Amino acid sequence: MTIKLNDRLKSLIQNDGPLDLATYMQLCLTDPDDGYYTTKKPIGRKGDFITAPEISQLFGELIGIWIIDTWQKLGAPSPFSLIEAGPGHGTLMADILRTIAKLSTPCSKAAHVRLIEISPPLKKIQKDKLSAFDTPLTWHESTEDIGDDAFILIANEFFDALPINQYQFVEGQWAERAIGLSPENTLTWGLKPSKFNTTLNPKPNDIFETSVSAQKRVVDLSKRIKTQNGAALLIDYGHLKSGFGDTFQAIKNHAYVNPLEDPGSADLTAHVDFDPFQQIAAKAGLHAKTTTQGAFLLAMGLLERAGALGANLTTRQQEKIKTDVERLAAPDKMGNLFKVMTITRSGITPHGF
Ligand code: SAH
Repeated sequence: MTIKLNDRLKSLIQNDGPLDLATYMQLCLTDPDDGYYTTKKPIGRKGDFITAPEISQLFGELIGIWIIDTWQKLGAPSPFSLIEAGPGHGTLMADILRTIAKLSTPCSKAAHVRLIEISPPLKKIQKDKLSAFDTPLTWHESTEDIGDDAFILIANEFFDALPINQYQFVEGQWAERAIGLSPENTLTWGLKPSKFNTTLNPKPNDIFETSVSAQKRVVDLSKRIKTQNGAALLIDYGHLKSGFGDTFQAIKNHAYVNPLEDPGSADLTAHVDFDPFQQIAAKAGLHAKTTTQGAFLLAMGLLERAGALGANLTTRQQEKIKTDVERLAAPDKMGNLFKVMTITRSGITPHGF
């Protein structure tokens, strides 16, 4: 019989000491036998959370338009890789492919879709949904394994699922938050010594989060944008300026739960810090721009597109479109919390920013 993740984590802590949060997240999310993404179907009303493309087709349609425009600005490379990191149910890519096929045959013909996905159940859902399109389709293990062609990479709610470390300023010095064992032999929070430092000025007990895994991917992506002729569009909830705060959360069944209870059963995420991404891109001599999801979608023509979609529909259907639009773009819904970042070579001015 296989040993459940909870017990394996406990033995790991007994043998090697407390786990840093990144290791804990990595095991809970991607363990081949019990990991959340590797074994569960997380998205949708019956799942644990809902994402923008699952709310409305308008989201993917506008991103499809962004892709055609960016592809032209890259010099219409043919072939090019249309890459999505963490495609979930494949809904965003399906809406994109439908839009591209309708609006630009040359772009549609040049595209080779590459999906970066670790989840076997989600890969199957993606295959079922996307095989109907007349586009080459391949799966890849990581953002560092995407071939040498020119490319456009998109990622919606992918970077928030990458492991983070947390550091806390306690009694005048930084310590790392770690997961150990309580006297009752349950998983519990603690601190371990750390060499972490930051130029920001902390108050007592402030927490700073950082994702080595996310930053490593942006370093690689930036190199490729430069050498392979590429562009990226990253969408996630998070902040544009680094700061203090604990944003680590566990979601199950559309509600917050204790992240240390029943490891592997809940979605573990943290807000994405876009600040270091901006710096990595600038250091590579690239052009990074950020805006809010609300501003991006409106600049891409959300309201006009919603009006066109609603024409000839019933009042009830039009009401549904209106609610969806508000959910995606209103400042008190996803509009402000979600940010959009584009990274391109300098000299290219992507639409929507
Ligand atoms: N973009 C989709 C799904 C977001 S959920 C949407 O908007 O609906 C996060 C997605 O990233 C899932 O498909 C999950 O399986 C995938 N994922 C999470 N961590 C990953 C990793 N380390 N490597 C590859 N895919 C990962």
